[in-house]
Amino acid sequence: NLGMAESDNTSVQVALRIRPLIHNEISKGFQNILEVFPELNQVKIKSSDKAFTYNFVFDTNIEQEEFYKKSVQDVIQNLFKGYNVTILAYGQTGSGKTHSMGTAYSGQESKGVIPRAVTDIFNFIKDNFTYDFTVTVSFMELYQEVLYDLLAMKPRDQCAVEIREDAKSIIIPGLTEQPVSSASQALEYLIKGSQGRATSSTNMNAQSSRSHAIFTINISMQKKDNSATNRTAKFHLVDLAGSERSKKTGATGQTFKEGVNINKGLLALGNVISALGDEKTQNGYISYRDSNLTRLLKDSLGGNSITLMIACVSPADYNLEETLSTLRYADRARKI
Ligand code: ADP
Ligand code: MG
Repeated sequence: NLGMAESDNTSVQVALRIRPLIHNEISKGFQNILEVFPELNQVKIKSSDKAFTYNFVFDTNIEQEEFYKKSVQDVIQNLFKGYNVTILAYGQTGSGKTHSMGTAYSGQESKGVIPRAVTDIFNFIKDNFTYDFTVTVSFMELYQEVLYDLLAMKPRDQCAVEIREDAKSIIIPGLTEQPVSSASQALEYLIKGSQGRATSSTNMNAQSSRSHAIFTINISMQKKDNSATNRTAKFHLVDLAGSERSKKTGATGQTFKEGVNINKGLLALGNVISALGDEKTQNGYISYRDSNLTRLLKDSLGGNSITLMIACVSPADYNLEETLSTLRYADRARKI
């Protein structure tokens, strides 16, 4: 339950999701190295004493619907109270980030977080008679520190946008913000934008995603009997770049450079999230400026905001090193 943000200005929760072994891994004889203790929200590396506890721990058999209901659904209410909300999917390539978020939604598959959240938002709006709502969506990709507008529908070299900051919030001049009045309309833009995402192949995964994809829903609420009462909330749904280190993917040249920049964003994000927890003891200094990822998310990580990190891991023995690295990153985020 994420409702605790009301007394506590910043809330970060971590949900661990372990994907199942895929057929190819089973046929090669790879073993599941993770053991889950559901009642403790704990995961243990088998044959070691390493154990980690998170707000939620979901084993390989969790369905999309149950995952959404248990870890995400409650957060929707907080948007309508005026909180900014950020959901981040972190993990190595192939660990289930895109599956969990539903970033590559096509309408056919078992739905991930984005299509379910969009549906819940419009159901809430339909049942509310006190406010008028304006909802817009945007879709961005951050690749090698350059931010692209995926809904611009222009050649890629004309889609770059800049991040600016005013006294209260982050603004991106020229970014396409499409007004939407139904879930299906919003999902059309999700589909359109995801068709333009950059990928470059590595040894690890031919569709390896080397960029961060950020789908944003802006909600503005105006009280019907009092136009002076206005609330806004920003909901970022972020499918982060693969967290694997470049040496493991065997990447060289251009792809290696990508790896370096991606690590910069993920490193800065880890530092910001962990500094948020130390705010009171460290003069309140948080280094959002270290990467465009953290600059972009500045008004949605600090202040009146709620963050849910979905840490995605593979259970396979050959992924142990990357799995441990994700478990540690998520552990650091949770200690706030
Ligand atoms: P990532 O975005 O982290 O690179 P994907 O979401 O593309 O990883 O997942 C890699 C593969 O594993 C895909 O074929 C995906 O359908 C499958 N997969 C991931 N998580 C699950 C899950 N919980 N249940 C079933 N299949 C999954
Ligand atoms: Mg992906």
